[in-house]
Amino acid sequence: MASDTLHRRGLMFILSSPSGTGKTTIARRLLDADAEISLSVSATTRPPRAGEVDGKDYHFVDDAGFDRMVAEDDFYEWAHVFGNRYGTPKSHIRAGLKEGRDFLFDIDWQGTQQLYQKDAQDVVRVFLLPPSIDELRRRLTGRGTDSDAVIAARMERARAEISHWDGYDYVIVNDDIDACFAKVRGILEAERIKRKRQTGLIPFVRDLLKPD
Ligand code: ADP
Ligand code: 5GP
Repeated sequence: MASDTLHRRGLMFILSSPSGTGKTTIARRLLDADAEISLSVSATTRPPRAGEVDGKDYHFVDDAGFDRMVAEDDFYEWAHVFGNRYGTPKSHIRAGLKEGRDFLFDIDWQGTQQLYQKDAQDVVRVFLLPPSIDELRRRLTGRGTDSDAVIAARMERARAEISHWDGYDYVIVNDDIDACFAKVRGILEAERIKRKRQTGLIPFVRDLLKPD
């Protein structure tokens, strides 16, 4: 048995940050660079931003559609964020983890807590911080996707979001994007080879120790 074909359980890799810090940018780079991880596409009642694609960035649903998903117990977790609702559909995630597939979650601290309560062993929690509040404002403004009123509301929430930094396993200050990305990849690589995830190790080691 070759060591690189050993079976392992997949993991739920959660990236959270105050809005505007760079989590979506990092998430996209990770998905491009690493074929073994795929995005857990959330459902949201928020309208799409320019360039966002239904089914790829989010499943965009109306209030009634979201209500239906809640009633049918379709969500792993869901939460109110900025006056809209966001949720993680369960459907293929549980099965994927068993097959050794990894999922990336771009969710807030509320969703992180809920996922961790449901399935601590598979969750890896990474929190990104901005280098400063001024830089966070610059990034939100520079992104050019939100109105002044929405940016003001996001800034107001930033402090509250930052206060949840201690509910995460890893915390990275996203100053230089390349350095931040390298750290995120390093965490993912290391978490994949944690002993508890390598479910194929017991027979492998038994085989190694077989008398000649
Ligand atoms: P989030 O998903 O956390 O709301 P985004 O990924 O949309 O944030 O990033 C917000 C803006 O900041 C984008 O315009 C992005 O290009 C920019 N950005 C992200 N990371 C950095 C960085 N390290 N340095 C400078 N600008 C950044
Ligand atoms: P945005 O509107 O900028 O895409 O996302 C706003 C916030 O909602 C972000 O903090 C993002 O992480 C969070 N979010 C996105 N999807 C989910 C989800 O499925 N569950 C939870 N709890 N939060 C989510």
